Amino acid sequence: MTSLPDICDVLIVGSGPAGLAAAARLGEAGLDVHLLERETVAGGIPRHCGHSPYGWREFRRVMGGQTYAKRLIARATSFGAHIHTAVSVTDLGRGGRVTVSSNCGLQTVQARAVLLATGARETPRAPRFIGGTKPGGVMNTGALQSLVYLNKERPFRKPVVLGSELVSVSAVLTCRHARAKPLAMIEANERPTTRRAATWLPRALGTPLLLSTQIEAIHGRTWVEGVTLTSGERRWNVECDGVVVTGAFRPENALLRTTELEVDPRTQGPVVDQYGRCSDPAYFAAGNLLRPVETAPWCWNEGRMVASAIISALAGGLPDPSLSEPVLAGYPGVAWHLPQRISPNSSAPALENVQIGLARSMAATVRYGQASANLRSKPARRILLPLPDGGVDLKFEETL
Ligand SMILES: Cc1cc2nc3c(=O)[nH]c(=O)nc-3n(C[C@H](O)[C@H](O)[C@H](O)COP(=O)(O)OP(=O)(O)OC[C@H]3O[C@@H](n4cnc5c(N)ncnc54)[C@H](O)[C@@H]3O)c2cc1C
Repeated sequence: MTSLPDICDVLIVGSGPAGLAAAARLGEAGLDVHLLERETVAGGIPRHCGHSPYGWREFRRVMGGQTYAKRLIARATSFGAHIHTAVSVTDLGRGGRVTVSSNCGLQTVQARAVLLATGARETPRAPRFIGGTKPGGVMNTGALQSLVYLNKERPFRKPVVLGSELVSVSAVLTCRHARAKPLAMIEANERPTTRRAATWLPRALGTPLLLSTQIEAIHGRTWVEGVTLTSGERRWNVECDGVVVTGAFRPENALLRTTELEVDPRTQGPVVDQYGRCSDPAYFAAGNLLRPVETAPWCWNEGRMVASAIISALAGGLPDPSLSEPVLAGYPGVAWHLPQRISPNSSAPALENVQIGLARSMAATVRYGQASANLRSKPARRILLPLPDGGVDLKFEETL
């Protein structure tokens, strides 16, 4: 760990694609930028992930997550960004005064701007109300990937995978890499969460997708020995030696609880305007902290765009945040939307669209101001609407 400064231009919290992309752009602009990462190695989620596809948008090459993370780090440091690892940010004070914990103890850093890029994490077993015992061998995809790709371990041979998101496919691939064969992907809904086409790969690898099925209980004394599955009236036991609990991402927002920053209860991330600027204008946010959940290239680009907004802000080029107006989307089928506020336009927005997450499949016309757009989509799909000029109430009229 390099020593931390007492003051700096920009402090970035989190070294995933969003934080590293921002660090490169801010460093390139000649700013004194310091990136803080609580793990011992920088790189965020991708550095745990041995499989592709990462990197096409960023480097015009498809690569595994670990190579991708290394390239992002090399780029950020080549532009003069300072990366500090094994450093946890523990408090976000008003006006960019950040408390940091490391093996040197607690320290305070005063930054002119702070970018929060702490990402998202999968929902663990406990809040999913799965019954049974609590043996070892139940883990998220992130933990599985650390064991397999970083520690070169094989935690099990025949697990089941709970979920049908893209990350669930990633879990199947990770198991295969460890020479384990997942017995099934289990999805409570009638349809897979990811696009149906993405589920052909697990099926081609011999892992069936069981729809409308739930894990009622996990069994085993010290290690998983089996699960009880239910589907409608049917109830049956499957012998297995692991359960990978995938997806249902939530922004990594623990830090926000220590602050006065306004938090959106629907995204569970900070409230931001189109510049990625939080309710305290010294703070900005980008990447999966803003919403669950986007791909690495999306987070990477968002990091760069918000970094450009920070550069404008430090040059006095962003409008007064007190002039911002709310974007509202109170329709029941809408789970969340982003940005939550629109400031008067002065420079190019970092978030170029209003992004919407649905709670259920929906076909609707969205009207706002003079504009309207048609959408026909499902939860976990990317939905983008043109950015309005000011505050607006998004009105949804469902169509059949
Ligand atoms: C298992 C898995 C497989 C995936 N596979 C793909 C894929 O193949 N292709 C693809 O495009 N996307 C993939 N993704 C998604 C992609 O990895 C994420 O979208 C991307 O990493 C998000 O970037 P981020 O910068 O927002 O955050 P992250 O990559 O999550 O990084 C956030 C960082 O912040 C750090 N942090 C958090 N809190 C603090 C704190 N208080 N102090 C200091 N540091 C902190 C964390 O340790 C972490 O390193 C995958 C995701 C998972 C979970």
